[in-house]
Amino acid sequence: MTLSRRTILANGLAGSAALLAAPPVSAKPNLHQRLICLDTHLDTPASLTRPGWDMMQGHNRAEDFTQVDYPRMVEGGLDGGFFAIYTPQGPLTPEGMAAARDAALLRAMEIRELVAAHPRQFELAFVAEDAARIAAAGKRIVYQSIENAYPLGEDISLLNFFHKLGVRMLGFIHFKNNQFGDSATDKPEWNGLSPRGRELAALASDLGMVLDASHASDLVFDQMMEMSRAPIMLSHSGCRAVFDHPRNIDDDRIKKLAAKGGTIQINSYNSYLINVPPNPERDKARAALGQKMRNLSTLTPAQRTAVMRAVAQGRKEIETSYPEPRATFDMYMQHVTHALDLVGPDHVGVGCDWDGGGGVTGMEDVTAIPKITERLVKLGYSETQLSAFWGGNALRVLKAAHEARKPAA
Ligand SMILES: [Zn+2]
Repeated sequence: MTLSRRTILANGLAGSAALLAAPPVSAKPNLHQRLICLDTHLDTPASLTRPGWDMMQGHNRAEDFTQVDYPRMVEGGLDGGFFAIYTPQGPLTPEGMAAARDAALLRAMEIRELVAAHPRQFELAFVAEDAARIAAAGKRIVYQSIENAYPLGEDISLLNFFHKLGVRMLGFIHFKNNQFGDSATDKPEWNGLSPRGRELAALASDLGMVLDASHASDLVFDQMMEMSRAPIMLSHSGCRAVFDHPRNIDDDRIKKLAAKGGTIQINSYNSYLINVPPNPERDKARAALGQKMRNLSTLTPAQRTAVMRAVAQGRKEIETSYPEPRATFDMYMQHVTHALDLVGPDHVGVGCDWDGGGGVTGMEDVTAIPKITERLVKLGYSETQLSAFWGGNALRVLKAAHEARKPAA
């Protein structure tokens, strides 16, 4: 099945989303389980090298703060999503960039190792059509994305290699500005994309990668929208009209995103949903804990396990000593329903930031995502609309980016 972007736009986006989704499987009586559910921002790869942690075992957020593993994906009906190659922003120096490059390449290898080690449970996905086939085989769908292009350093040709590895979505920026442009949570420095950021946007588009404007400043969003031939995505963002935070986006921009065929995938990151007053003591305690993990790679496995145990205990103590106000499931759903009311079910989806700070009271890990479906069914959304919401929209954007790529010479 091939559909040109023009055909998709001409026929209406709901139709295309339905075509990209799997046919209903009669063996799955439950509506949520029947849908192909994708989350477009999973920070789960960060768990893969945790000492003693096994993706194939069920875990508990209260114990180790993780939110996704294979048993919980199955229980929650999460078929897969975009597994993020995330790199924290470091110094814009040759040494900083080299360390980030190595970390990102290792992270990409770790994702492939996961899939290679469990070929009956996971499969790498590269194009939109892979999703239905992999889900029909009863496996979890592993698309890959980059969160923070900082590891590309001074030589963006490294993006070609990440594309060959299977990376299909590129988020340029994280909490701080970098060599490619301005962050939503930093002071403007480039007025959007830097000259090198514009080159990166052009290269990513030529490769057929989805441009992801989550974490980027509003101006970066505008410039990505201008530059991209294909629709773009906000892989994990919320609505500024519901909660005013620079990481959330205003209604006008959501409408422009939708008008171009894009999608906003709603985030469940606490401090983008609710006002968390600053607490220097808590920050200090967290920073001290972070220091403990600084030299993990130089330790023996036994030492690493001991450090990680102490860190998990420390996190629990911080939660008890310096409790943070926590958003509720209803607050999360306010962002979902606001976006749905604004642009309809063909331009909204889910990017919960699991294992990266996501989760709200009442939706602590992926086992709780059927509650989203339940709520939307109550609000009158049909199975076709839910199929678009849970996966079809993200796959449509992926397909459009791929079709708009520059054909190989
Ligand atoms: Zn993020």
